[in-house]
Amino acid sequence: MASSSINAGNYRKRILNADEIQICDLQNPWNFFILMNQDDSALNKWLMDNNLLLKSMPCSKGDDACSGTMRPSQRAGKPSGATLRCNKNRNHEVAIRTNSFFENSKLCIQDIFMFVKSYLDGLSLRHVSLSAGVHYKTTAVDWASFIREIFKEYFHRNMKHRVLTGEVEIDESLFGRRVKFHRGNPNKGLKVSSLYTEILFFKIYIHTFVSHVHF
Ligand SMILES: [Zn+2]
Repeated sequence: MASSSINAGNYRKRILNADEIQICDLQNPWNFFILMNQDDSALNKWLMDNNLLLKSMPCSKGDDACSGTMRPSQRAGKPSGATLRCNKNRNHEVAIRTNSFFENSKLCIQDIFMFVKSYLDGLSLRHVSLSAGVHYKTTAVDWASFIREIFKEYFHRNMKHRVLTGEVEIDESLFGRRVKFHRGNPNKGLKVSSLYTEILFFKIYIHTFVSHVHF
């Protein structure tokens, strides 16, 4: 984030080993595409390492409460190539996206990421939907409002009274324009615009969300 390195260009600063890419590195589009161009199993592993997909959960199947643990299992023929499968009963199986941000969406995860990235980059909803290749009138509107709600809720829960320091950049553009954080005072939104910060919100929220289902 140092302004002194801003002229070095993003290409030379890209991270070739996708395993080393962290969420905050995704503001460099080369990193974003390096990560997204991996095969599904490598991407799933990255998503698990970054708490965006579950690595394990208590078994949710069975007539009686099964005491097994569900873990990722590769399976040919599934859209994501993987499912969560019980270690006590192999017929107990749920989608790899269960209890994640991506649950209930038929879009592939790469398109969802592209949607979120384009949205965070401040593109218009029309351009966001073009980037992700999703329907402008329905899917895009749903996802945009979903993402807005996440930021809003995260802010209300965690950020409202916190003083931002360190890596968080503050500038003139008002993030609060899109998300009215201060319901009582819409003119005093939080002045945070860096993509890094916004992705951080996203990451922390997802982490919080995923933590809830890690009994
Ligand atoms: Zn089970």
